[in-house]
Parts: sequence; structure tokens; C-alpha cells
Amino acid sequence: MCNPMRHSVKSNAISLVLLMLSALPCAGQPRKSVFVITDGEGVAGICRQEQTDPTDPELRQLLTGEVNAAVDGFLAGGADEVVVWDGHDGSRTLSATTIHPRAKLVIGYIGPLMTLDRGYAAVAFVGQHSKAGTGAAIMAHSYDSLGIQNMLLNGKPVGEIEVRAAMAGHFGIPVIFLSGDRAAVTEMHDIVPDAVTAEVKEGLARYACITLSAAAARDLIRERAAEAARKIGSIRPYRIDGPVTLQIEYTTRTSLPVGAGALPGREVVDDRTIRIQGKDLVEAWTRYEER
Ligand SMILES: [Zn+2]
Repeated sequence: MCNPMRHSVKSNAISLVLLMLSALPCAGQPRKSVFVITDGEGVAGICRQEQTDPTDPELRQLLTGEVNAAVDGFLAGGADEVVVWDGHDGSRTLSATTIHPRAKLVIGYIGPLMTLDRGYAAVAFVGQHSKAGTGAAIMAHSYDSLGIQNMLLNGKPVGEIEVRAAMAGHFGIPVIFLSGDRAAVTEMHDIVPDAVTAEVKEGLARYACITLSAAAARDLIRERAAEAARKIGSIRPYRIDGPVTLQIEYTTRTSLPVGAGALPGREVVDDRTIRIQGKDLVEAWTRYEER
């Protein structure tokens, strides 16, 4: 605990200054800042492709409700800052007019490091889906639903959950929370068993689900997010150490352009598959995003 008021008060003027200082974060004491990554396909009530249009009014309402419930929970559980990135398809779903008043909103493409080098206390996913190829998973895909068939990290199929968890882990940041469909929850627990999760729907097939109501999903998310924030400090970061090979198999409609393998660390495997090497995840992923 730090206490800027610990010095004796000598006058009313000093007293006033010290009172103002007490409202500021204490120097040297890290803020408990949670970075929230949002997506569309894992939101309760979203089960069909056309519902994931980033400007769809119902998606906006449903995702905003879940995000704001998560922010409420994180703050109740002890976080003192929540930074929310509108991570779904072009960053066009969330708005400063409707986001939780105490949250900060990140809008736009934020590069391979996703601002993780700013040093958050924890990362959380809201509205997350599972990786490409997962069965009984609603709109499972890896980064690009129609453009990428498969993504392999050191030979293992991955999607946003594992890549982003490992990217956070590179900076020593743990993933503490995920809300999404049952398949996304399972994928999260496979790599971070003690992450707190909120399962808001169950996939029956790619475009068929049993979903909680928006109200029930928000209540569950609020409760679990509070629990997750209380676990900051006890959940270990998920790390992938050492050199990384990333293999991207595109779909036919997104075959590789001329010269795709010409840059360092890149190798064209076939018409629609590229392999990228890096000394660590950050280098490989940066090479991929800067292709
Ligand atoms: Zn996604």
C-alpha cells in the first residue's frame, strides 16, 4: 500500500495539495490495467455469418453489453484501468458513446504487438471464437474467416486465442479471462487451465447454436470477470520460447501474390501456403503481418 498523505500536514495549503496528490496513482506502484481484446463470433446471440457484419446494429448492442459487463467485473475485482480494443473486423463495432464510462477504447489496426509492449497486468478476451477446423464450434476460424484455411505455429494448429496468449506471454502478461462459445473456452483451458471463463453459447454446428440470453450472458461475464481480476498475480503467462515457425495455408481465393517468398524468413511452400521463420514469436508474427 502507498499513502501520499503520510507526511504531517503543516498548513491548509499543503493539506489541499496533498489531498489532490492522494487522488493520483502512487509513483512506483504499478497500475492493475486489463487489456481486453474483443471479437464478434463468440458473442451470445451471434450464430450466423451475416450477424458478424461489424456495423450490424444487433452485434453492436450485444458486444457492447458483454464488454461493459466485463469492465464492471474487472473493476469490481480490483482492476484500476480497463483498456478495450475493438478487435473485430476493422474495429468498427464499439463506440465511445456506449462503452463503459470508466473504460478506455482502442480503435483501429494496432500492429503485431497489439500495444502489449505498454505493459498491462492482464489480457482478457470477450466474444472470442475457436481456431479454424474445430468441430461443433460457431464460425471457428483463424484470423480470417474466408481467407485462411489453417494456421500452424511450430506445427500445431492455432488461432487468435493461442497466438495472442503467447504474444502477451512474451511480454510477461497472463491471460486471465475469456468469454465465448464452448469450443473457445475449451481451447483457452487447453493452454491456460486456470484462466477464468464464461461460456455464453454452445455450438451445434458452424452456424447453429444454443445461446444464453444477452442478459444472462452479461450476468455471467460480470461475475466471472470479477473472479478473474482477483486472480491477477496468480495466473502464469503462457509462453512459447525459442525460434518459431509459422505456416499459413490460405484458401484458394487468397492464393499468394508474386514474390511472396522473397523477403527474409519467408518460404513459399505451394500456391497458397507460406512458411515464416523467426527467432521468436514476435519476429515471426511481425514478418507475417508485414508480408
Ligand atoms: Zn476473430
